[in-house]
Amino acid sequence: MIPAAFEYHRPSDIASALATLREFGDEARVVAGGHSLIPMMKLRMASIGHLIDLQDIADLKGIRIDGNTVRIGAMVTQQELIDDAALTRAAPLLRETALQIADPQVRAVGTIGGNVANGDPGNDMPAVMQCLDATFTLTGPSGTRDVKARDFYEAAYVTARADEEILTAVSFTVSGGGHAYEKQKRKIGDYATAAAAVMLQKDGTACSAASIAMTNLSDVPVWSKAAADALVGTACNPADIGSAVAAALADISPTADNRGPVEFKRHVAGVIIRRAIERAWSRA
Ligand code: FAD
Repeated sequence: MIPAAFEYHRPSDIASALATLREFGDEARVVAGGHSLIPMMKLRMASIGHLIDLQDIADLKGIRIDGNTVRIGAMVTQQELIDDAALTRAAPLLRETALQIADPQVRAVGTIGGNVANGDPGNDMPAVMQCLDATFTLTGPSGTRDVKARDFYEAAYVTARADEEILTAVSFTVSGGGHAYEKQKRKIGDYATAAAAVMLQKDGTACSAASIAMTNLSDVPVWSKAAADALVGTACNPADIGSAVAAALADISPTADNRGPVEFKRHVAGVIIRRAIERAWSRA
């Protein structure tokens, strides 16, 4: 199918994009890589009168690493995340995740901003951002504000971003330690049946800090404090990992769909969370 007719706008700065968003209100939507939005328009699940293309806005591009702080512009593509050696040294979890998103064609144009702003529970980066305790910067008519990734997601496709705001960047502090993004999918290029992002730090033989978040196991990404707490202070032995998996499973509420019934998803979730913890611990 082809989408319904729309007007195309291509501003070169954030102020002009915001002005166009304001001028057309509900009729307008920003487009980044277009790999979530355009399929929705083609399927006539979204009807948008005015598309505001963000690709010419230089302020939305680039990856900056300043000491321990990483700032990624919203229009950075998944392929750029994969290719950036300094980013991979600082936060290898991002490369490991981006390589598991869709296929090279999608990764070449799909952006970090679109992936996290979309609010699709199947998108992989939201849970990763929660795992990293990232902050999203939003700019709107009344200025700029920061929202924690852990507070951003309210329901499927509903986020803390107001309609007249643009997500300009994601940032986080580098924490070091071991990482893993484990994703079970039906075939290459598919969204997750279940996925988990894990970061672990080690002090001597004990786990000194942990962060665990999950993809597509509820209508929002789930960061499980209880699962992390179950590992901190332990040596991440099989029994400790079992307790963390049980705590994580208590925090999710998957629904049945064409990726399987609830029991299957809970089973898969248990397997991938365990694998992610084991891999992160082996790298810590
Ligand atoms: P767009 O499609 O342009 O936008 C998506 C939504 O976010 C729109 O509502 C748009 O208005 C809004 N938006 C975009 N940028 C901003 C911004 N800066 N500020 C405010 N709002 C904004 N994703 C995964 O995570 N995992 C997968 O396995 C996966 N598989 C895929 C397979 C296929 C075949 C396809 C086509 C896509 C797949 N995707 C997957 C989605 C892909 O990663 C998208 O590119 C991504 O989710 C959205 O990024 P985008 O830049 O294309 O955003």
